[in-house]
Amino acid sequence: MPHVLLLGGTSGASQLAQALHRAGIAAVFSYAGVTRAPVAQPLPTRVGGFGGAEGLAQFLRAQAISHVVDATHPFAAQMSRNACAACAATGTPLLALERAPWQPQAGERWVDVPDMAAAATALPQAPARVFLAVGRKQLDAFASQPQHHYLLRLVDAPAPGSLPLPRTSVVLGRGPFSAADDAALLRTHGIEWLVAKNAGGEATRGKLDAARGLGLPVVMVQRPGLPDRPRTESVQAVLHWVAHGALPGEPPSMP
Ligand code: NAP
Repeated sequence: MPHVLLLGGTSGASQLAQALHRAGIAAVFSYAGVTRAPVAQPLPTRVGGFGGAEGLAQFLRAQAISHVVDATHPFAAQMSRNACAACAATGTPLLALERAPWQPQAGERWVDVPDMAAAATALPQAPARVFLAVGRKQLDAFASQPQHHYLLRLVDAPAPGSLPLPRTSVVLGRGPFSAADDAALLRTHGIEWLVAKNAGGEATRGKLDAARGLGLPVVMVQRPGLPDRPRTESVQAVLHWVAHGALPGEPPSMP
């Protein structure tokens, strides 16, 4: 009988948790524990790091995990690397549930950069109003450009004095975000530049549509490199993989 470890933290992970639950497949959902009130899941849930790749390998053995699905955010690179290493060490099949990256659409003005440090230096020298849609963990890179006013959208309210940037406005929210709401947000805050991570998917692309509508330039941070691993964008394909040991259209694996 399969026993799936689902590495979560994305809307895709929550959709897969629902599907596994409905299909009656035994699974455990894992959260990093970075947000104060994570979305409740219909699966047994554990919270917190495993202790690196070795700790994860121990967990896989101790819990008799038969399949690992990495549905973490494409920028959660450490967790994904650990999953590759632990699955290789224990011989556990691994599949990534991951959206394809966004591609610029007609009328979008992107500056592609490889990482956050490059994103900070891609902004203009003159003070500007910037929507920094990059999450709490990545703000330090922008401390080198303190002349800008940064609009931050965070899941949890930051502790007073904890932000590394001198001029900020903070709004709280958890996706999905509509293009109409994001356009209103950009207008209200007089935003001139958007900085975004190339997450892919629909839940957070509203800001790109909003920026396009307002003619704003976007500094787009490309995804970190990860080891090669099987991946799919489809929750149904994950269920097929768990049942048959292969993605739809591939030959089933031998027991
Ligand atoms: P990360 O840098 O790749 O991971 C750092 C450490 O956090 C990992 O080494 C692992 O600790 C622990 N960890 C991460 N995801 C975990 C999970 N699902 N279950 C158990 N432990 C986990 O990850 P991150 O960028 O901090 O992201 C943390 C979580 O937030 C992830 O679940 C991710 O899906 C979600 N998230 C991230 C982003 C983003 O932009 N990075 C955006 C939206 C959501 P050990 O080494 O001790 O096992």
